[in-house]
Amino acid sequence: MNPLAYLGEQLAAWREAGTYQRLRVLESECVPVARVDGREVINLASNNYLGLTTHPKLREAALEATRKFGVGSGAVRTISGTMRLHLDLEERIARFKNVEACVVFQSGFTANAGTVSAILMHEDHIISDELNHASIIDGCRLSRAKIHVFPHKDVDAARRKLADLAGQPGRKLLITDGVFSMDGDIGPLPELTALAEEFGAIMMVDDAHASGVLGRNGRGTVDHFQLHGRVHVQVGTLSKAVGVLGGYVCGSRDLIEYLHHRGRPFLFSTSHPPAVAAACLAAFDILEQEPERIEALWENTRYFKAGLAAAGFQTGLSETPITPVMVGEAAAAHAFSRALFDAGVFATGIGYPTVPHGKARVRTIVTATHTREHLDRALEIFRSVGRAMRLIGE
Ligand SMILES: *Cc1c(COP(=O)(O)O)cnc(C)c1O
Repeated sequence: MNPLAYLGEQLAAWREAGTYQRLRVLESECVPVARVDGREVINLASNNYLGLTTHPKLREAALEATRKFGVGSGAVRTISGTMRLHLDLEERIARFKNVEACVVFQSGFTANAGTVSAILMHEDHIISDELNHASIIDGCRLSRAKIHVFPHKDVDAARRKLADLAGQPGRKLLITDGVFSMDGDIGPLPELTALAEEFGAIMMVDDAHASGVLGRNGRGTVDHFQLHGRVHVQVGTLSKAVGVLGGYVCGSRDLIEYLHHRGRPFLFSTSHPPAVAAACLAAFDILEQEPERIEALWENTRYFKAGLAAAGFQTGLSETPITPVMVGEAAAAHAFSRALFDAGVFATGIGYPTVPHGKARVRTIVTATHTREHLDRALEIFRSVGRAMRLIGE
């Protein structure tokens, strides 16, 4: 008897329901027209907002660091795996974000999960938006603090939770995504920050999709909303617009030094290879030296959203380059995604558990490096496939 038989049964059920996901294979670099599963497709499925995954300066920095320092760091940060490049990157990010200090984790996921679980204990309280990223949710669970979820962007509901908790012992953490990854809307950071101040709560934002996208030179939502000095914990990613891999936490020196001692992924998982740190360092130069990339990203975003809306698609509440095309049921979203792919557009179908039941969608993300022709062709394909599948009228 196979004790793992239930896994095969579950997979069969997913195949039956049309929600089984085969991994598509990217056979070229991550570029606007990419080779995927043997086809040239317009790539609307990456987080490579600024086209930095293939930027010559990042590529060169990675190669040079590899030649000079090898391919691995050899240990976790707290044993012997802290290289000069790691510290240079953290100092660079802290200056860029205008904060006291920064610590880099292996990914945005570990930055969130490692930080939330480290700074709160079981007697504490977390007040969290219902659509916050999975890495925040996992961090909350690992902390063993009490979790209070408020409806998406409902500041009044968050206020009621904080007011209810006002007399109770334990610290309070108010936490939101800066940009919500599945809907592309922006968190109500000014209102939540004011709430945190009123109730003496710790304020934390996950800027994974705002890093390199919102704020001056892509400094994120704190800069976008002019909240400098008022958000205690800012998480960002190096894996999306920055084009490489990693996550970072910005805040006070005490916060960062505390994470050096208690951030479990920092303590128990090996640090980045030199190539990763060097490429990230080069990326921050690009953010400052080539602001036209961010302008092109937003120009393309406006153009593509307007085209989808004109065609009659429902694009939800998006305010950023993440534009969902709402479909409804997960099986329909996956079918739409497959039909788009066969017609030459790569855009991922997303259903439960990543988004709630009935809110399945195809998610599109344009980048700075898509040309007008790419976007026009993608819109034409969306229109014809959308009509064929009766998602829009004739
Ligand atoms: C992608 C994402 C992360 C994780 O970042 P990685 O660097 O890919 O691990 C965290 N939070 C949000 C909101 C994200 O979208």
